[in-house]
Amino acid sequence: MKYKRILLKLSGEALMGSKNGNIDPAVLEQYCEEIKLVKDQGVQVAIVIGGGNIFRGGQAETLGIDRVQGDYMGMLATVINAMALQSALERHGVYTRLMAGIKMEQVCEPFIRRRAIRHLEKHRIVIFGAGIGNPYFTTDSTASLRAIEIQADVVLKGTRVDGVYTKDPLKFPDAVRYKSLSFQEAYEKNLSIMDMTAFTLCMENKLPIIVFDMNKKGNLLRIANGEEAGTLIS
Ligand code: UDP
Repeated sequence: MKYKRILLKLSGEALMGSKNGNIDPAVLEQYCEEIKLVKDQGVQVAIVIGGGNIFRGGQAETLGIDRVQGDYMGMLATVINAMALQSALERHGVYTRLMAGIKMEQVCEPFIRRRAIRHLEKHRIVIFGAGIGNPYFTTDSTASLRAIEIQADVVLKGTRVDGVYTKDPLKFPDAVRYKSLSFQEAYEKNLSIMDMTAFTLCMENKLPIIVFDMNKKGNLLRIANGEEAGTLIS
């Protein structure tokens, strides 16, 4: 495997799949199968999952909810998804630990960097819930920050498209996918890869990002093995 330790960022919104509810069991199952494939190859896996299928801080004010309160609600939403993913992974016989940016002793461990690294060395999958524990951040920023802290080799951003395109591929059939980009190019072209805080953290710490299609079977394994199957930003 090309990468020994990866940080996988999964969107909460994608968990909804085609169902009306918050979590589509078929998507959860598919995530687990993909993750188990890389784990079985000895790759150390850390995961950050979003909460957009349940709540986003940005929608708080339209509901008459204070923004900061809304962000905490968003963070709690990520814990719900993280717990679902943890349970599903354990059903596949994978050992996991859930570590959160907000103290919640009954359901998870607090995030302690050295402890997270120890779990990974013991080949447990570590899921980071509750973001970084601060409002005005996103789970993309959490992914970048935690990846740097645990010295991951790469951030793998699993999405519903197979990379970064010259323009929106869903609207423009002539859009072309970039195989690789430098951080500078991505910045100058104003390509939306992650929010600016998350992007800058990766750029300044020389942490590569790969945007790839999480829905395609075997893709995560291909990426972890260094095959070209998305867009590499480095
Ligand atoms: N959030 C936050 N601080 C963090 C991480 C998340 O305040 O460190 C909140 C924020 O309101 C965000 C919500 O949690 O909108 C859910 O996360 P996100 O929108 O990143 O989820 P995704 O879009 O990946 O599903």
